Amino acid sequence: MPENTKNVATIVDDLTTTDIGSRDTIYPISSAVREKQGSNPSMQAAERLNNAVDSEDTVLVLTGFLIPPSMVQETDGPLGAVSVARAVDSALDANPIIACEPAAVDICEATATAGELRVLDREAVSNNKRSVSVEPFPADRSKAQKYVEEILSEIDPAAVIAVEKAAPNKEGVYHNMSGYDVTEQTAKVDELYSRLPADVLTVSVGDAGNEVGMGLVQETVEDEIQYGDECQCGCGAGTAADIETDLLVPATVSNWGGHAIAACLSHVTQTPVLHDPEVERRMLVQASMAGSIDGIVGGTNAWCDGMPPDAHESVLRLIREVLRSSVHTRGGSEIGR
Ligand SMILES: [Zn+2]
Repeated sequence: MPENTKNVATIVDDLTTTDIGSRDTIYPISSAVREKQGSNPSMQAAERLNNAVDSEDTVLVLTGFLIPPSMVQETDGPLGAVSVARAVDSALDANPIIACEPAAVDICEATATAGELRVLDREAVSNNKRSVSVEPFPADRSKAQKYVEEILSEIDPAAVIAVEKAAPNKEGVYHNMSGYDVTEQTAKVDELYSRLPADVLTVSVGDAGNEVGMGLVQETVEDEIQYGDECQCGCGAGTAADIETDLLVPATVSNWGGHAIAACLSHVTQTPVLHDPEVERRMLVQASMAGSIDGIVGGTNAWCDGMPPDAHESVLRLIREVLRSSVHTRGGSEIGR
């Protein structure tokens, strides 16, 4: 393990769990995660991924949250998924597949292309570096079951990483953060998690309590997050997600959690994988041009979670500085580029 690992881990987590957008959800969630899982979740995720994933393995990256009433993919999720996919490709020398709602495929493809990855078929990804495939994870339950069977028999992923992936509550209802039922058009990822072999490493990133992985802190979400225990859909069970993973990485904006994992994988493997702020802006713009909206303020203005591109670029710039200075103090080569 490189020197300064604890410092890098702590600063990266601090940066990506600071409530810059004043959304009022991350502090109770991140302190509950630290209590249950220990400190430095993004570095823990990077170390576990580095151990679990071998060269040429396939890693499934899940994302997707559709915003009602138009059910359009939000800008939070795709960028973090691309960030993680880049790290899977370059730092782990493995093959990433991004799976998302059918309605989100075009947006995730546009984000990946803007994020310097070629979008190719699943088979072609294994023969081409700097590439990713983007696949629809069905919302229809029987189609989702077939997709999961196919993934498990044909792909046999070494790890599944969920970034801002809608998850059902304990009644099986998927909710957005305003407490409305979004089940009908949401990918039925519970079919995957209920069938995954125990040796497949599962990592998740979330910011509001209704995402895959938040089962770890379900009680905190019910007690502390608006609509956590009482939704607006009538199911009576609240938005708190009921799917738990091996590791949960909380983040102010889920994209930032993906960037934090990529940064820690950069550090652990000494491979420069984290994109620069210009690419962050390009991904936000291209996702918006493909129709993606800010989940909080709406509109295709390249904002994400109520914050303008500048805020997201600034977080990237600071994370990259943490990597650069940690290498500088060690006297090694620059992994922060
Ligand atoms: Zn409900």
